[in-house]
Parts: sequence; structure tokens; C-alpha cells
Amino acid sequence: MPHDLPKTYDPTAIEDHWAEYWVSEKLFAQPTPSPDAAPQESFTILLPPPNVTGRLHMGHMLNQTEMDILTRWRRMSGRRALWLPGTDHAGIATQMMVERQLAAEGKTRQQLGREAFVERVWQWRRETGGAILGQMKRLGASVDWQREYFTMDENLSVAVREAFVRLYEQGLIYRGSYIVNWCPRCQTAISDLEVVHAEQKGHLWEIRYPVLDAEGHDSGEFLTVATTRPETLAGDVAVAVHPEDERYLHLHGKKLRLPLIGREIPVILDKWVSRDFGTGAVKVTPAHDPNDFAIGERHHLPSINIMDEKGHINAEGGAYAGLDRYVARKKMVADLDEQGLLAAVKDYTNSVGHCDRCKTVVEPRLSTQWFVKIQPLADKAKEAVQKKYVRFTPEMYEKTYFEWMENIHDWCISRQLWWGHRIPAWHCSECHKITVARKDPTACAHCGSAKITQETDVLDTWFSSGLLPVSVFGWPNVTAENRADFDAFYPTSLLVTGFDILFFWVARMIMFGCWFASDVPMPDGSKRTLKDSVPFRDVYIHALVRDANREKMSKTKGNVIDPIGIVQQYGTDAVRFTLASMASPGTDIAFNVARTEGYRAFANKIWNAARFLFMNVDRAVEIGITVDQKALGGMPTVAADAPLEARWIVAEFNSTAAKVNASLENYRYDDAANTIYQFFWGSFCDWYLEIVKLRLDFPMDGPDAESASQQASKHDSRQAALTTLVSVFEASLRLLSPFMPFLTEEIWHALYDDKTPAKSIALTSYPKADSSQIDRHAQNQMTYLSDLIVEARSYRKDRDVPENEFVELYVVGLGNYGQVGGPDESADDLIKQNESVIKKLAKVSKITEILLGDPGYEHLSWRPTRLTDIAISYEKQIDVPAERARLTKEIAKLEKGLQAAQGRLGNTGFLAKAPAHIVDGLKKQAEETRSLLEKAQAALDALPKE
Ligand SMILES: [Zn+2]
Ligand SMILES: [Zn+2]
Repeated sequence: MPHDLPKTYDPTAIEDHWAEYWVSEKLFAQPTPSPDAAPQESFTILLPPPNVTGRLHMGHMLNQTEMDILTRWRRMSGRRALWLPGTDHAGIATQMMVERQLAAEGKTRQQLGREAFVERVWQWRRETGGAILGQMKRLGASVDWQREYFTMDENLSVAVREAFVRLYEQGLIYRGSYIVNWCPRCQTAISDLEVVHAEQKGHLWEIRYPVLDAEGHDSGEFLTVATTRPETLAGDVAVAVHPEDERYLHLHGKKLRLPLIGREIPVILDKWVSRDFGTGAVKVTPAHDPNDFAIGERHHLPSINIMDEKGHINAEGGAYAGLDRYVARKKMVADLDEQGLLAAVKDYTNSVGHCDRCKTVVEPRLSTQWFVKIQPLADKAKEAVQKKYVRFTPEMYEKTYFEWMENIHDWCISRQLWWGHRIPAWHCSECHKITVARKDPTACAHCGSAKITQETDVLDTWFSSGLLPVSVFGWPNVTAENRADFDAFYPTSLLVTGFDILFFWVARMIMFGCWFASDVPMPDGSKRTLKDSVPFRDVYIHALVRDANREKMSKTKGNVIDPIGIVQQYGTDAVRFTLASMASPGTDIAFNVARTEGYRAFANKIWNAARFLFMNVDRAVEIGITVDQKALGGMPTVAADAPLEARWIVAEFNSTAAKVNASLENYRYDDAANTIYQFFWGSFCDWYLEIVKLRLDFPMDGPDAESASQQASKHDSRQAALTTLVSVFEASLRLLSPFMPFLTEEIWHALYDDKTPAKSIALTSYPKADSSQIDRHAQNQMTYLSDLIVEARSYRKDRDVPENEFVELYVVGLGNYGQVGGPDESADDLIKQNESVIKKLAKVSKITEILLGDPGYEHLSWRPTRLTDIAISYEKQIDVPAERARLTKEIAKLEKGLQAAQGRLGNTGFLAKAPAHIVDGLKKQAEETRSLLEKAQAALDALPKE
């Protein structure tokens, strides 16, 4: 017996409760399978770990909704489902945030020192870090909180260290000089993808470099060089011109004097130089420009680093040493001008790279960094996708992936930060060699000296997150005793993530997974092939959530929707359903609150249906009818001789379940959600509930209003109708549960009066279609019947029949109608068998059959339906004297107006003076008045005579 639900659906009243219940009951925990557990197919999904500093945005809400729907669906469908949550330590973002906190206290991290600073970050993380996971809990994500990880956890750090050492031992990690994107504010190298380019108005300075004669004296001639960054001048090691540039042929092999500095530098020839840019002569500064670095390599030129990590000129800058880069620029340009070496200053707009985190202009800078040699890792990762061991949805991202993998460079993995995994390498001050070790060494591995110091750099955050699919399941310690997790959950089934980290993260996980997992034998001891080394089988790239006008959400535009705010307003279920109803591969979502309002109404509809159903179950109990509990929990079935609506709703439910399962299989969340919506609102609420009311036909005045014999005669049909009603509803809740987990959990518990067969609806089984229960004949018949009822209703509307008035319905006895894909059947039979339904739903008092040629046939206005032509006879009742008075008054008014118009049109003086358009307007007005007058007169004549 169900217990009562509150009259109104209020998501805030139920959601907090269930969210807490799911977590405290550990409902979604997926413990390590025991060795004697029955074999079971797993569904494993890794939450892309949000930054520990992060807050939930609409993109998270979309991708978590998608992951949660799939995980709940797979779990209910019998898989060993594991959705694994965690957070990323987010090196640069977290360090910056704590630095800002320090700045507010008037401190810097340098004052604190490395150890104290790192401790301070840990303290922050313990106290307030990972708030985003709290938000996820509130939204009911069905993750295994017992397995929550943090990328700096001890066990994951062991994996990071092992991966580093192993790659180093394999010769795949090296140190080298490289031009990196340097952020002088964050004081670290940042990757190309963390640099945002913006058009910026600047200048092109043309500087005259004195040409030297054979003796090394100024020849009096100048070579004019164009540059956007004069402050790097001290780092120039050559000036390059195109070898075929006729302007400079005579300068081939000559030397120049570097202005302000005085050093001699050569003129070199390189085809990379564009003759159209500036003067066609460019300064070559290998330590401060990636293209110049490449020229320097080609011509074996030295590199002179002239800037420190803060963007100040260093000792190489001579008189400019110690100045900030932009201060130095100003001073150098002024000095050049004073010395007559500034030929011109031109306006110039170019694209300038900024640090994505702090928006400081990035400085290309030569520095010593640690690198991963990308081959053969990248080739293996490419092969895994080529062979479809990893599949992308939408498929187009496969192409993007290949393009990246083909142009991939060695990966700079060192970052000059304090927060992160510190590189396990020690420098020896005696022999200057490097010791890389799994355990912190006390002496140099090469000379035995104790004078060793650990590398100060930390690893790129993506180095640790790239390892997650292997490290969260115990790698590198996947031993005979400790491999149940790895065996059960690796490779993971699916990764749902955004396009923006396809390269950063997805590609790196594929590289690391294929590389490191291949060393882990299969459960039977055999060698693991590439197919089983991949970190995941499928990658689903989710779309963007835009605003209702399809604009990208941005803080500057002020169109950002806060998911928590909208959830508080409409409930999590309605927001989830909105996102799901628009989510399909490769299609961005235009989030419109009006839709969420609609789905809130949908939730309300289901709530009310539950209340109606519970009320009927209670009434049934009063006359000794109970629902057979065995009918619940599986797929609803129906007897072959059951009434049409019962066979039809069971068929509809099975068709719906088939469509929903197939849609989810193909990531068509939109199709799945819309199919459920149409079933629940359309088929179940609008049709089935209305019909089943008649079948139950409980006495309105209580059980005593019926005699015992009346009750006995209706007992079986009522029992059957109630069982179908409740079993279809219960199964529908399970079908909807992955999409609206809170609402369905609440109603499901109420339905069983808390004596539920499981702790949660999420742990029951997902409806799987039974094709033998899809009665196509019943579906066809219902299509004809509902069409007739819809037409009859619209006919009533057209005739202004008051809502509560019953009318006589005429049908043409056409005999047989053709079934869709079936034999002809008698329309009369279908109508007769369902007469009570038609009468009730179309408000019909009597159904009369009229044949062509019958008296009265011609007087009716027929309307076609799929089943037969229908008509109703209805005369609107009107108050004749009142209508006569109204029309008489109307006619008098119109006559007066017409006379006035005709009077003016007959006035020759007026016609002579008035402009043509006034006259035309007046004529038109007179015509219209005349026509209205005629109509009113006709209506008056048509009224019955007194
Ligand atoms: Zn920065
Ligand atoms: Zn040494």
C-alpha cells in the first residue's frame, strides 16, 4: 500500500534528502571484486578530475549528467558499474590562488620558503579544496565516493615517480634547451595550449645596424632591421636576409655592429626570412624567439639569454641590466633615437601571446627543461586509434586526434612551480651528473658524492593526470595478490570529456596507457596486447552549453548560467532533463530556461499521476482488491484478451523501452529523453489514465455505494486494470530513473510504502523490451480510436460546444477500415467495443450510425478521421431577444456612419479640395461599412421570428 505524497511536487523538499541518503548508504560503492565473485561485465568511467580550485559550471553539469545517465543505466542493466571521482591538484591554478591569499596578507611564497608554502597549499586543500565534489554530491552523481582520489595522493604519486623513472631508464626522458612560453608573472614555462593569442596594437621599430668594412670599422653604410621587440636586441647573434633579396646581395658575408651593445654579428642568409616583412632584414635572437631558435640551430649560432625569470634584463644587457622588459624597451628606443640609429617607428598590429591563467604577456625564453621523447609513445597511441581499439564519438574527432599526433613534438614536462610532483632527479655538484631514482638517494649514483640536490622543478599537471587510468587501479603495484581492481576495471569503458582537453589529456592518457599497461600481464598470465592496453574503449566528446541565443557563455557578456542557482529554482531533475533532452553527439546546447520550466511541469505531471494512482490503489483495497506484488519490478505483461487500453499501454511501454535502450547505446540522450517524455505525458497520462479511470469505475460515494453482487461482477476486470496500471507505472519510474533520479526515487519509495525490494530504485533492473509484448494490432487500433476522439474534440471546439455539455456523435457506417500493416477490420466493431471510452473522452451522449442515403445524412457536416467520417449536431443556444437588440443597435450605428461618409463623398467642394489619398480612404471606409451593415442585416433576418 503506497503512502501519501505531499499535494505539491517540491524538488527542494526531496532532493537534499536523497542526495545525502545515496552517499551515506554508499549505494554506488563498487568494492574490489572478490576472487570467487561471479564473472560480470564492467562499466567503468573516470570522472575527468576537476581542478581542486574549481566550481561547478554548466559544462560540468552537462558532462556529469551524461555520465550519470549512462552509469545509472548500465548499472540497472546489470553491469558492474563504477564511476570514479577525484580532483586534480592543478599545479599552476592552485599555486596562483594560494599566492593571492598570501599577497592579501602582505607575504610572498619566497618569504615563506618552499616547504612552508607547500604545507600552506595542503592546508588550503584540506580546509576548502574540492568544493566542487560537494556540489556533485548535491546533484546526486552516482559515483563511488569510497574511491575518491586526489592526484597528489601517496599511491598516485608512487605511480608518477615510477613512470618518470621508467621513462628515464628507457631513454625517453631527457633534459634540453628549448624555447618555452614563459610567464614572467607565474615564473614558469607554460604549454602552447595555455597561451592565448590576442591582437594587440604595437609598433614596428626600424633600427639601423652599422655595416663593418673588412678592417672591422664602420663603413658608413647601415642595414635597417625591423623588429617588434627591440628590448631583446642584446640577445642578437646575427641579422638574417633572404638569400635572393636583391637589395642585400652586396652585404652577403659582411659583419655588423650591434647597436647599443657593440658586439660584432654576421649577416646570414636564410630562406625563412620574408622579403615583404618590414625591411626584409630581421635580427636573430635565438634565446627569445622560437623561429630565431630554429635559425640559430641551422646556422650553428650561439644563444644568449638576456632576461631573467621575472622578465628583467640580466647582465648580458649591459647598461640595461636590471630593467623590466618594457622599461628597457623604452630606454633602448630613446637611446637608439639619440644615436641616430632609429630609422622609423611604424604602427603595427600583431598577435601577442598571453598567459591563460594570469593574462601576462608571455615571453619566449630559452631555458633548460625536462622532456618526454614522444616516439615511440605517440606511434603506439596512434595505432590504438587506427585499429579502433579506442573509438571516438563524434567520429570527426578521430581526424583531429591524428592531425595532432602527426605533428607532435617532444613534450616539455617540467614546470617551475612549487606545487606539484617534484621531479625525482638529483644534481651532483661534484661530477655534474644526474641521479634519477625511485627512492630519494643520499649520494650521487655516478661518483658517490653526497653533494647532491634535488631538481627544483615539478612535473606538468598533465603528466600525473595522464596516468590516472592506470594509477587509480593500483599500477605500478599490480601484483598477483593485488590485481583484482586492475583486472575488473581496466581498460575503462568510456571517457566523457570536452573537446578542449582532447590533446592535453585524452591523447596523453592513450600514450601512457598503451605504454605502461602493456607491461601488466593479462589475468591468465598472457602478454597484454595493444587492444587491452588502451586506457578506455570509447571516448565521447560532449558539446558546449550555450545561452538561449546560442551565444557562448562568458563572464564579460554576463550570460553565464550558474547550475546551482538554476537547480535551486527548478530542481535538479528538471535541469538534468533539459540538458539530456538536447544532448546528442556534436550538437551544442542552447540552454533555455523556458524548457526547464516545461520539464518542471513534466515532473509535476508525474507527481500528480502518482497521487491519482495511489488514491485508486487505496480505493481498491477498501473493496478487497490488491495489486499482485509479483507483477512489479520486471516488465509489465498483459493477457491476450485484456481490454484494448491495457494491451496498448503495455505494447507502448515495451516499444518505448526498446527505443530508449537503443538511443542510449548511441549516446542519443535527446532521443531517449524525448521518447520517455512522450510516453509518460502523452500515452500514459493523457490517454491511458483517462481510460483506466472508466475501467476501475470505483463508486464515488465510497465502497458501500455498490452492492456485493455489483462488486463481484467487476472484481476481476478491476483487479486486472489496477495491476496493469501499477506495474506499468512502476516500470516507467525505472525507465525514467537515470534521467530524473530524485523524483523517481521519492515516488518509488512511496509506492512500496518504504517496504521496497531494494535500497534504491537505482539498484533495480532497467526495463528491457520484450518484443512478444509489443502488440502491434493493439497499437494500430489505438491509433484509430485516439484519432477519432481527437477529431471529435476539435469538432466540438469549432462548434463552441461548452466544455461540460455532452453531444450526439454521428458516424458513417463505412464497414471496414484498413489496418496499418494488418487485415481490414470492422470500424463498427472497434467503435462498439470502445463505446464507453469514446463517450467519456469525447463527451458524447450517444453514438449514432448513419448510412449514406439515410435521412439526415445530407444535413450533417462530415469530417473525416482515419476510422470513419464523423459529425456532431449542435446548435448554439442563444438569447434571441438580446441578440435582436444588439444587432438592431449595431445596424443603426453602421447606417449613421455610412450616411456621413456618403455625405462627404457627395460634396463637390470637399472633393475638389481634398487630397486624393484622403478621398480614396473615405471610399474604402464607406465600402467596408456597407459590407458590415449587410452582414448584420442578414444575421438579424436569420433570427427566429417571434
Ligand atoms: Zn601567468
Ligand atoms: Zn657525482
